[in-house]
Amino acid sequence: DITHFRRAEEAKSTFISVVSHELKTPVAVIKGYASTLRREDADWDQSVIRDGLGVIEEETDRLTALIDNLLAASKLQAEGMRLNHVDSVGLADIVARSVERFAPQTQMHTLQIDFPADFPHIQGDPVRLRQVIDNLVGNAIKYSPDGGTVRIEGTFDADEVTVAIRDQGVGIPEDEQPHIFERFYRVDNTLSRQTQGTGLGLYLSQAVIRAHGGTITVESHPGQGSTFRIRLPRA
Ligand code: ADP
Repeated sequence: DITHFRRAEEAKSTFISVVSHELKTPVAVIKGYASTLRREDADWDQSVIRDGLGVIEEETDRLTALIDNLLAASKLQAEGMRLNHVDSVGLADIVARSVERFAPQTQMHTLQIDFPADFPHIQGDPVRLRQVIDNLVGNAIKYSPDGGTVRIEGTFDADEVTVAIRDQGVGIPEDEQPHIFERFYRVDNTLSRQTQGTGLGLYLSQAVIRAHGGTITVESHPGQGSTFRIRLPRA
């Protein structure tokens, strides 16, 4: 049985192609702007310099996020998911802050939040839970290229809290749904070829939610959008 061996080989070559594509693109952009700006025969306007430095800064942030994800994924492989600081966490606040950050980045999407005022706090790692929410809200936007509403809803009962992130985007074919939480897995379609991504976000998110004793699930109909739902125990 060589399935296991073949899968490991596949993961390795996926890793190399993801890393080479996703790392090389921002590095090339940074290099291009830096060498243009420092040309000795040019006397750039302040505005050109400012814009160029702005792009360099953005691409550097992108690289940092990617490197963080790669390190987090390899650490997860090596030692499992560790929760650093477990504290009382208000998911409603985390969602509100995530929406505040994403809203200015898109004109095509309406971001709606619907949490009851008495939505309970839970015990958890606030930094990691924030990464999960950011990842799911970011994906909801990224995978609805024609815009629409992204609705984030909180509900709870005696035992658990639920956060559902619903978009009106491209959706995920049923046979792909079991795989999207795998490391480096991306649905292969025109959109994923045009969008940046490593296929690590949901893999890391699932590990975080499981480490909290919760679950993350998806419900989706291609062409009609997707709903990602996280459930976390209250106690
Ligand atoms: P990435 O976005 O970096 O590719 P993720 O692990 O976050 O990686 O997601 C894995 C794949 O699942 C994505 O490449 C995409 O094909 C699919 N996916 C995730 N979220 C959505 C969504 N809200 N709508 C449609 N497809 C999605």
